[in-house]
Amino acid sequence: MFIYCQSCDWEQDDYWSKTYNPLRSLLDWENVLLTRELDKPFHEGMEDTVRQVLCHELKRAITRIENMQYRTPEEKRTKNPEDICPSCGNKTLEID
Ligand SMILES: [Zn+2]
Repeated sequence: MFIYCQSCDWEQDDYWSKTYNPLRSLLDWENVLLTRELDKPFHEGMEDTVRQVLCHELKRAITRIENMQYRTPEEKRTKNPEDICPSCGNKTLEID
């Protein structure tokens, strides 16, 4: 489930669980990390190298953790039962 604000551009990652979270997502890249040439293009005809793609994915995981406010629906209900946006302060949080 995805939570976002209808009044501004605030949003966060889907709720986390044992099977979906930034660390779990990074594990999908382990095989690439251990088998591919780091400085070769990630795909034929692609400018970005394997190294650049892996670093991008790590940075993306960091951003997901930095921006996360409510890891689970329970945490959201407990910390913010009135649906107040952590960015603009309006009561316009919505779940998709
Ligand atoms: Zn907002």
